[in-house]
Amino acid sequence: MRPVILHHIASLASLAGPAGYRRSADMRDVSPLHDASIVIVDGHIHWVGRSTELDRATAPDAEELDCTGMTVLPGFVDCHTHAMFAGSRHDEFAMRASGRSYQDIAEAGGGILSTVRATRTASKRELKRTTARRLDAMMEHGTTTVEVKSGYGLSETDELKMLEALHELRQEHLATVVPTFLGAHAVPPEFAGNPGGYLDLLITRLLPYAARKGLSDTCDVFCESGYFSVEQTRRLLTTARSLGLKVRLHADQLNQIGASALGVELGAISVDHLECIDAAGIARLRGSSTAGVLLPGASFFLGGPYAPARDLIDQGIPVAIATNFNPGSCMSFSMPLMMTIACTQMRMSPEEALTASTINAAAVLGLADRVGSIEVGKAADIIVLDAPSYRSVAYEFGVNLVRRVIKNGVLLEFP
Ligand SMILES: [Zn+2]
Repeated sequence: MRPVILHHIASLASLAGPAGYRRSADMRDVSPLHDASIVIVDGHIHWVGRSTELDRATAPDAEELDCTGMTVLPGFVDCHTHAMFAGSRHDEFAMRASGRSYQDIAEAGGGILSTVRATRTASKRELKRTTARRLDAMMEHGTTTVEVKSGYGLSETDELKMLEALHELRQEHLATVVPTFLGAHAVPPEFAGNPGGYLDLLITRLLPYAARKGLSDTCDVFCESGYFSVEQTRRLLTTARSLGLKVRLHADQLNQIGASALGVELGAISVDHLECIDAAGIARLRGSSTAGVLLPGASFFLGGPYAPARDLIDQGIPVAIATNFNPGSCMSFSMPLMMTIACTQMRMSPEEALTASTINAAAVLGLADRVGSIEVGKAADIIVLDAPSYRSVAYEFGVNLVRRVIKNGVLLEFP
């Protein structure tokens, strides 16, 4: 593999620091450097420093990228997506524009279940093809690590189809793909009025099979009224933990039913959403090992409310942001757009938004020792943006500033 040298970088935010969560004021330190250079050898970061100290002899025959006037960042880590799905819900978008709520639409047979119908019809090959195209586009927008959840199959056959498709994509696609089992995304029509019966299927068959086959090392649940109760969620996630899986929860999005409290009780990796978390919920998170994953795109697309990012950060809770890319509540995979919304609507600083989109998101996925910052020894997942400062990433919104993407040391070419 040919070495790569990036030199004369106008604005480098390396996010150098401990290989784990950054909290409170540490979220505002992105380790900026001006007129910087990076040397990449064998897919890893070999050296980072000032251009005046660059020693080209350490990387003979390197491909050189002149980054004058450019910003360089670690590749974004999107730690919460539903990027594998079939169909499109543009008609529901029009319904919502005319005043119907997300819950109204779900009750009328739309919502998650309409994507479930389309995903069940699609073959594994078709799901892989469409998801690979989305992953390509995500990389083109600077995302180099992507978590993708199952949860649009909701039957034994179709959940396994999704998990196997993700497992294959994980081996075949250049992006780092992290699959999460979300069999408890909604109660499928076959079990309408009998969520306990569906949970039995998940607990006795799907979850043990997925764990045994190594299809996912994490189990997630949509814990909301109308979906899965706290008690049902506890039952499923306790089983997941006993099988050695990590657990995460969709928590406190539409209502406050105690989902984030359950996450703390179970030692969840993260509680995601938190639009409706209250002061008591925040107090419980404080001092726990559970991170908050905020999804500003969903609030923006559904018309608010937003998670209390300011309180969470100020109280020392590690915060990550993600797209929640999905056909119902956020049909965008742009991490920079999420950063803009986080800054304008949730009062996060550009530095906090960047930390939340890189190293903290990597920590949620257990990958903070490999990606999420530009430091010697880490994988060379690096993006080059046509922007004078890392602050421009959130500031210049609705445009793709990414010009070059380096994944594991490979300089990608886009059509
Ligand atoms: Zn989600």
